[in-house]
Amino acid sequence: MPKRKSSSKTSLKAGKSSKKSCRKRGKVKVAINGYGTIGKRVADAVSLQKDMCVVGVTKTKPDFEARMAVKKGYKLYAAIPERAELFERAGIEIEGTIDDLLEKVDIVVDCSPGKIGAENKPKYEKAGVKAIFQGGEKAGVAEVSFNALACYDKALGKDYVRVVSCNTTGLTRVLYLIKENFGIEKVRATMIRRVVDPKEDKKGLVNGIMPNPITLPSHHGPDVQTVLDVDITTVAFKVPTTLMHVHSLNIVPKEVPKVDDIVDVLEKEPRILTFEESDGFTSTAKIIEWAREVRMRYDIFENCVWRDSVAVVDGEIYLTQAIHQEAIVVPENIDAIRAMFELKSREESMELTNKSLGIGEIRA
Ligand code: NAD
Repeated sequence: MPKRKSSSKTSLKAGKSSKKSCRKRGKVKVAINGYGTIGKRVADAVSLQKDMCVVGVTKTKPDFEARMAVKKGYKLYAAIPERAELFERAGIEIEGTIDDLLEKVDIVVDCSPGKIGAENKPKYEKAGVKAIFQGGEKAGVAEVSFNALACYDKALGKDYVRVVSCNTTGLTRVLYLIKENFGIEKVRATMIRRVVDPKEDKKGLVNGIMPNPITLPSHHGPDVQTVLDVDITTVAFKVPTTLMHVHSLNIVPKEVPKVDDIVDVLEKEPRILTFEESDGFTSTAKIIEWAREVRMRYDIFENCVWRDSVAVVDGEIYLTQAIHQEAIVVPENIDAIRAMFELKSREESMELTNKSLGIGEIRA
């Protein structure tokens, strides 16, 4: 069990400003273990908060991402202690290893590849630091699974929390809002998944559509149930695209709403953006093209719901949404830190996080 407790845009300056602010007392000191797709975004988001700071980030090898972390002002540590000298040989300055970093922080956000977080956990326990794990880990790695809207309070004061995956986060936000406003009898959802992230060059699906898995259900439904009490069955397919996932949802509500009431509920939530096909948003490619103009790395932290897709047929709700897998879990990691240190209520934390990331400030 951890013993120690704490004392808008992202840019190349993100790490530098956080270093300075880490000297101030009372901030939660954060380590990022695994400066990859999620880790680099969580690091930049932590840097934007006033009540927490990044003490350091880790890399497993001295590649361009390690150099970029240093250039941005983050203190770099070797994720695998035996590989520390590789960094020195490559001329990249490191401050030590993950074990040194854990000595200096209150919490580690583990952003290592799926299943590696569970292997890292004994280190965190030994160092007495709290830890957040990502959606690639099994739910049992942590005391609770987390989604800010659906179950912020469950993480209050907890030592080990898992932020659910990109698909689960996207499903949960919408289902939470529908459930709160109209009730839910059951949900049937189909996930059309991007096969890999854009940077991936070792694996992929070049020419095919892969049922993933072929048997029912996909893991997404049971994963939603770790954060929201709802009857849900999901199926999933991988397709050869890297930009976003697309979800097709069919929800049987307890109270049948009008389409406008559903849209109204969704549009009141800052973590949901709505798009219209008639505005030219004909595919995920167009949504990403729009985001390239408004956000660093075209990060979309919000669910992207096609307003025109929202329908009520025979008492059932239908809607289609796109999820930017690289970014959607970033605000949830920030809120999880606040919950674990009991810094703010759900509403306060979400508002602070939203403001820092520009959520709620832009509309498509
Ligand atoms: P990634 O491969 O982009 O980054 C992982 C980083 O961890 C890499 O820099 C890697 O070098 C490093 N690493 C490898 N072994 C390590 C170890 N033993 N200790 C510390 N670091 C190590 O992966 P990612 O996409 O950022 O995924 C990280 C986690 O977030 C996974 O659990 C994943 O399922 C989850 N997640 C990913 C996405 C997504 O779409 N990319 C979305 C939501 C959640």
